[in-house]
Amino acid sequence: MKDFSLFISDLTHTSSGIMSNTHPLGSAYVAAYCQDQFKGNIDIKLYKYPDDLIKSLSSKLPQILAFSNYSWNLELSYEIAKWAKSIDPKIITVFGGPNFPTDIEEQKDFLNERSCIDFYIQSEGEIGLAKLIEQLSEVDFDYIKLKETKIACINSVYLWADDIYAGDIERISDVNVLPSPYLTGVLDEFFDMPLTPMIETTRGCPFSCTFCADGAKIKNKIHRFESERVREELNYIASHVKQSDELIITDLNFGMYKEDTLTANVLAEVQIKHNWPIIVKGSAGKNKTERIIDVATILKGSWIIGAAIQSTDMEVLDNIKRKNISLDSYRKFLGAMNELNEDASTYTEIILGLPGDSKEKHFASLRDAVDSEVINVKSYQSMLLVGTDMATGISRKDYGFVSKFRVMAGGAGLYKYKDIKIKALEVQEIVVGNKNMTFDEYLACRKMDFILEGFYNNSPYRELLESFKSIGFAIFDLLQFLSSRPDLYNKKVANIFDIYTKMSNSNLFDTFEEARNQSDANLELYEKGEFGFNETLECKTMLYLAIEDTLETITRTIIEFLKEQGIASDFLEKYFNQLQDYVYLKKHDITANKNQHKKLFDFNFALMDSHGFTEDPRTVETYSHPIEHIFYHEEDQQKHIDKSLNQYESHSGGFSRFLYNQNLNKMYRKVKTSGKAVVSEVEGLSIAT
Ligand code: SF4
Repeated sequence: MKDFSLFISDLTHTSSGIMSNTHPLGSAYVAAYCQDQFKGNIDIKLYKYPDDLIKSLSSKLPQILAFSNYSWNLELSYEIAKWAKSIDPKIITVFGGPNFPTDIEEQKDFLNERSCIDFYIQSEGEIGLAKLIEQLSEVDFDYIKLKETKIACINSVYLWADDIYAGDIERISDVNVLPSPYLTGVLDEFFDMPLTPMIETTRGCPFSCTFCADGAKIKNKIHRFESERVREELNYIASHVKQSDELIITDLNFGMYKEDTLTANVLAEVQIKHNWPIIVKGSAGKNKTERIIDVATILKGSWIIGAAIQSTDMEVLDNIKRKNISLDSYRKFLGAMNELNEDASTYTEIILGLPGDSKEKHFASLRDAVDSEVINVKSYQSMLLVGTDMATGISRKDYGFVSKFRVMAGGAGLYKYKDIKIKALEVQEIVVGNKNMTFDEYLACRKMDFILEGFYNNSPYRELLESFKSIGFAIFDLLQFLSSRPDLYNKKVANIFDIYTKMSNSNLFDTFEEARNQSDANLELYEKGEFGFNETLECKTMLYLAIEDTLETITRTIIEFLKEQGIASDFLEKYFNQLQDYVYLKKHDITANKNQHKKLFDFNFALMDSHGFTEDPRTVETYSHPIEHIFYHEEDQQKHIDKSLNQYESHSGGFSRFLYNQNLNKMYRKVKTSGKAVVSEVEGLSIAT
């Protein structure tokens, strides 16, 4: 084989912050495999940042330029490929990844619309790219000559003279033949960047959800990496990691298989030895609740664990061929997680606008989630993703989807090097209505989703909400009341809701082209991070930064709700007003983690906090002397906050992503009471239940 050069890129937009701040694991697998297959002949380089790639390409083009294609980087990768082709049309461009249609006619359209893509690799990229390289080497890396043969390559698709040639799709049955991208050092340089390491212990998903590219039949079989290799990788990562307290497990159903218990035990050993990872992220399996609870217990609450239910409505679930765990198991699972430790975090995912969804069904799903005491209810919008069943013409017609196009938050940028300027915007198609849901109802759902994000997720006002619940009301009823009573919002909060409404509407276009064409007018704004943001995250951050006003609003809403129920009293008003101050001191400006605060309260909130505010406030006792409370960050918390902030602060939307992605329960101040006299009173406290 002749010597050749290969650049592989798994790009992320960086103009308004690092949009996808993870190690380029998928591409690194492909790089490690190609390096192993073609050792001695290959000159290979791996890229994550567009600026680095553009700079390298401007000095020397490789023979093969490969990209991983996801919904968040297609346009960026394509614009760079187009520019490289304009310099040298002989450069071979290869794309691969899940953001590609499964239907052959749609594949043809996709490639016709993107004529600068020479080959597309489907399914697992390692064998697809390596086989393609072998065939290209036989024709001296002249891709036209290869296409002229019309030979279909395994896992590859290409166009030639108006026809499409697609090879058989194969999966790797023994994934252990793939060299580890960590143990081979392929990912070493990425430890110096503010990126989170990821590890893969299995490939494939046995489920077949229609909105998901991993639900394809070809991916239904599970292939597992050997446990000894996983152990070595985890230890390797732990001894190299510098910039992140997190680990992402990319498995699609972690905790569902018996081998996952072994992985969790190894991870727990690593945590003891290296004090890392403090946070583990990974999608939990959709059944085997007991085993998942065991795995989470081994990880002692470090796993931000979720049950992605998407909807609790049976008809919607049937429509998307989704099998959820039962609501009872779901509640049991979340209850067990919440008991693991006070800082553990849980989440659930709900998608608005799935086939058959309606405002009532969406609200019911949100209510079920909140009633189940999950810490975060992540509400997403249905996207019509290339390569999924849901995006096919039949499905669009059956469910009467009304869709709009928008520029993905953070997915826009203008990349410059010397006189080179490359601009790209990632556009996504989202569902804003269907046969059962009007556009106005969609907007009402979005407002409710925002209320959950701003007032419920990550427990910013948990103490107030739990006290309210302890009186005997449902938290979701309070949040709905908040949604229906804008007259209770104070000025700043009302303004934030106005901004949210305007932002939600301003970034919706009727066609893909309209969404993309606005780039010329707004690209400078995108570049400065002043446009193309995620309205939910931005407005959630505004609510947090205006925490005094937000707290005032939620406290006023609680008191008003109680008045309407005829149970408001001076005592309850005093309780909630003082609790409002307690929450403020515990949770405001968590990045100021060296400051201590003290305040006197008529209630022993610290003690109630240790019980999760499960006492009915109408029955708690007050003291003859106020109790001094001290609010402080522990040393480990200070380090964790500083390190986590460092990962996000380099960009304008950084703090928003920090608030959204981090487990803030690990970052709120600890509280203790002070003073001997006070302590004895505390010990003597009796709380009626
Ligand atoms: S279970 Fe998750 S990964 Fe598997 S098909 Fe469904 S959504 Fe996709």
